[in-house]
Amino acid sequence: MEQRLPVNGAQGDLLRLVATGGAESRADLARLSGLAASSVSLRVEELIAAGLLSEEGSGTSRGGRRPRRLRLSPTAGVLAVADLGANHVRLGVLDLSGAPLVVEERPCAIAKGPEATLDLVTAAFDSLLAAHVPGDVPLRGVGTGVPGPVDPATLRVVTPSRMPGWNNFPVAEHLANRYDLPILVENDANLMAAGEARWWPGSRNLMVLKAGTGIGCGVITDGRLHRGRGAAGDISHVRVLSDSSVLCACGHPDCLEAYASGAALMSALAEAGIVVERPADIVGLVDDAVPSATSLVRGAGRRIGEVLTVLVNFFNPDVIAVGGSLSAAEPLITAIRAAVYERCLPLATRDLEIAPARAGRDGALVGAGALLLESALAG
Ligand SMILES: [Zn+2]
Repeated sequence: MEQRLPVNGAQGDLLRLVATGGAESRADLARLSGLAASSVSLRVEELIAAGLLSEEGSGTSRGGRRPRRLRLSPTAGVLAVADLGANHVRLGVLDLSGAPLVVEERPCAIAKGPEATLDLVTAAFDSLLAAHVPGDVPLRGVGTGVPGPVDPATLRVVTPSRMPGWNNFPVAEHLANRYDLPILVENDANLMAAGEARWWPGSRNLMVLKAGTGIGCGVITDGRLHRGRGAAGDISHVRVLSDSSVLCACGHPDCLEAYASGAALMSALAEAGIVVERPADIVGLVDDAVPSATSLVRGAGRRIGEVLTVLVNFFNPDVIAVGGSLSAAEPLITAIRAAVYERCLPLATRDLEIAPARAGRDGALVGAGALLLESALAG
């Protein structure tokens, strides 16, 4: 069952406050929305009648009436989201608050091209929904993250360096042929940033670095994802200083990606006679104190940190959260910190926190859920 969210703007604002955990009662809604208690009550009744909210837990407490607790109705709907990597896809069904109900990972070679990949994703959605979601709970939105730049105006993938056959492919239109629902297509680092932002409620300006096979960065400004024209945060092809010269897959010499991405580190390790299959394997080598792996990861962290110094001085974020499969390597974050604290303006780093991402492996899926809820509420 597929259905658009039947809400108007004011109802949507209240639903959003409950879904994102800001409000748990009618009194919370009145306080946070600025609406009169009577008009909050009217809209809450409408949302309950529409099957989107439920109210429970009435009773007395400390002599007074305890406010009844508002929550999303279990039948309000679900979102189906995916995060495509080079060789696998992580898939989830979330409730409207973005909480994962079920998550699974499947092998999926993105190099097989957009049609085969997206058909695999939609077939996986269908089987997850059939197995885990009751028939009376509608699907409200579908989204996918991709490891390449996305034009936010057309939702097409634009000149990706690691996705052969995807350039200019109409990903959203392809999904819309299958689902008559809000569709989200977003760069994977942007999704990670949108998910991570939920874990830093006191921070309005964040940079979320994804250090995996490639290098990506998502930017949250004043609490919202900053896309620019689609390329915002794409630091992978910034030129770095180097004694040697390495040609990047993009055709230019000495991009950050050519030195500090998981793919670059795997090639460098292979030249040293150590063959690994995934960036996560490099973390294992670092944990086992293999000197060449540790020194490569430290060098990658230093180069990433040098690029970040410019961005920290320019953007002055509260937080740099480092995620992706390489982020579990301690020397990576240590080297990033050292470079940033050494070179940035003291004012820029005075209250800056550089830390491993908190959202965990489902960060991008949760981010997709948060962005999809916004498009579903925007109608
Ligand atoms: Zn490049």
